[in-house]
Amino acid sequence: MGVRYIYHFEIAALMFMMVLLLHFLVYRQLPLVRTRIFAAFLISSMAGCAFNLCSSLGCMHPDKVPLWLNQILALLAFLLEAVSSFLFFWYILQLCGRGAKWKNRVLQIGAVPFFTMVLLILSTPFTGWMFSFDRQGNYVSGAWSSCGYLCIAGYALAEFIILMVNRKEIRRNNQIIIALFSLLTITCTVIQVNYRELLLNGTTKAIVLLLIYISTQNPGSLVDGVSDRYNELAFRIMVRDKTEHGQSFAAVHIHLYKFNRISAAIGYKNADGILEQVGRFLAGIGGEENTYRTQTHEFALILPAEEETVKKAVNAIRERFGQKWNEGNTELMMDADIVTACSPRHFKSVSEMNALRDYMLECANSKGAGSLVMADDNLKEAYMRLNKVEQAISEALEKDSMEIHYQPIYSMKDKKLVAAEALARLRDDVLGNISPAEFIPVAEKNGTIIELGRQIFEKCCKFIAKELIPHPELGISAVHVNLSVVQCIQPDMAEQFIEIIEKYQIPPGMINLELTERMTLDATDLMRTHMKKLGEYGVRFSLDDYGTGSSNCAYLIDYSFGMVKFDKQMMDSYFDNESAHFILKNEFKTLKGLGIDIVAEGIETKAQVDKLEEEDMNYIQGYYFAKPAPVQEFLKLIQAQNVQKAAY
Ligand code: C2E
Ligand code: MG
Ligand code: MG
Repeated sequence: MGVRYIYHFEIAALMFMMVLLLHFLVYRQLPLVRTRIFAAFLISSMAGCAFNLCSSLGCMHPDKVPLWLNQILALLAFLLEAVSSFLFFWYILQLCGRGAKWKNRVLQIGAVPFFTMVLLILSTPFTGWMFSFDRQGNYVSGAWSSCGYLCIAGYALAEFIILMVNRKEIRRNNQIIIALFSLLTITCTVIQVNYRELLLNGTTKAIVLLLIYISTQNPGSLVDGVSDRYNELAFRIMVRDKTEHGQSFAAVHIHLYKFNRISAAIGYKNADGILEQVGRFLAGIGGEENTYRTQTHEFALILPAEEETVKKAVNAIRERFGQKWNEGNTELMMDADIVTACSPRHFKSVSEMNALRDYMLECANSKGAGSLVMADDNLKEAYMRLNKVEQAISEALEKDSMEIHYQPIYSMKDKKLVAAEALARLRDDVLGNISPAEFIPVAEKNGTIIELGRQIFEKCCKFIAKELIPHPELGISAVHVNLSVVQCIQPDMAEQFIEIIEKYQIPPGMINLELTERMTLDATDLMRTHMKKLGEYGVRFSLDDYGTGSSNCAYLIDYSFGMVKFDKQMMDSYFDNESAHFILKNEFKTLKGLGIDIVAEGIETKAQVDKLEEEDMNYIQGYYFAKPAPVQEFLKLIQAQNVQKAAY
């Protein structure tokens, strides 16, 4: 009879790991690199534990087990111990948010002790370095046997160091697992060195495997309950895995157009049924493991990057959405916007993919329901420009360098320039002059319009205080400032504006805020409150670009606009198109009847001015009088037009 090993914990651990393996095989697993490593770690730990048990039992009964078998069992137990330790080290690396390059370098360094151990173990039958068997067949530890423990403890320590170095990039539950494993392994190694007969390696691994399986590798946390597809977290993990490993693939997003309206109409139970059907249909196209429900009304497929494959899938999806969907007694038609992009050609990370997806969905949305947008070089270029515009905006914000140009407004009654519209100008060293028609919507979408609008408003107030109030002879009694809807939905917008007006001590009546029709539809109650507060304070309001949205005279009265502006497009049609002329003529009359002043924008010729004079227009703004100009140029123009002409 050889050494008496205490192997009972290992038997329990082995059974534990078998149950885990069974669960792992039965449940749908996300095909990630780290899932494959986890599977290999689980199997090698299980096999290692089994061989260690058999080897220990064999060593306990050298009289019953042939020597060659004991030698093989011990060799395999040692080898699998080294393999599973290295695999866990590899798995830990996968949990770090670091780039693939860093991970590969650390993995290569981590492979050195592994291969050294393998060499030591494989040479043991000839050298006896790790272990040997005496003449009676008893197990004898080799001179280098401590190397095995050292290697295991070394990996545990390395994992702990990786955790400390990357703690910001590693999620909290993963941090706990790594720390716990390191602690358990080191404790177990210390126990093993002192009580070699107590077998604990498999137990440690079983505990850690269980912890990983219920947190990081938990298949349940990656499945969406409604559609029974993988969820958004799974999609992000998958895309991150693929981009980090440099794999090329196509991401296809299928956005169900206005599905919230559909679900409100057919009921949430039926809507869930439809979502489940869509998920099943998409899984039929892309495969179960490649189909995800990424948002409430959005699915995604991960496909091979070949153009033909993507086109084939997209065509099949579009064809299906051209037909009816049935759920319960409900039959309905649904539109889906589809956007596709490939990695690494169009995006190289999850965040890049999400930003590009948002951009493409917006493009699809502007094209109408059920549109298809496939990323190509032109789209990528437009998207890159958008990013550069965003950068130019944030630089301008940081340096407070947004310029304001002023365009005069001419009064038909006073026969002189009486007001000015402030128009923002953005200059970028690379892109040159960027039109507000391009950068204002970008600033609205990314939220920078709030601070930008505040800076613009402050600049206008400063201009009034510094250049207009001390020079009443210029005759400019108001400055029009354009507002964005995003500014109007800030709860403290009115207070902020009043604070700025008071800071520069300007009469509130010199400020005329221009809102667009779309804003009155979008902003509603909060905007009404701001208008009321600012209106009572003395600020005036104009409705800009009247007629380009869904015109409705009723809200003109409702919102107390004192002025309405017709943009260049409307005025051009007024001059060129007979029926538009007729409609606008009546519109002018109605507005006048309501006591609202009218401004004609985009007036470029004398003939147009003359025609408007017949119409009894209140104000005119356009290149005929002046283009928007920087402060000094604008002041010079007003001086020449209003002051010098009057003196003459
Ligand atoms: P808007 O408020 O309707 O401004 C009038 C636009 O018409 C200005 O374009 C002006 O330069 C242009 N315009 C005026 N007269 C003529 C003309 O005779 N011929 C032609 N071809 N164009 C004329 P701009 O400066 O490019 O601004 C475009 C739009 O960008 C503005 O339309 C406004 O909606 C927005 N915007 C400009 N500055 C700001 C700002 O500070 N804040 C916000 N929220 N929007 C702004
Ligand atoms: Mg305007
Ligand atoms: Mg306008």
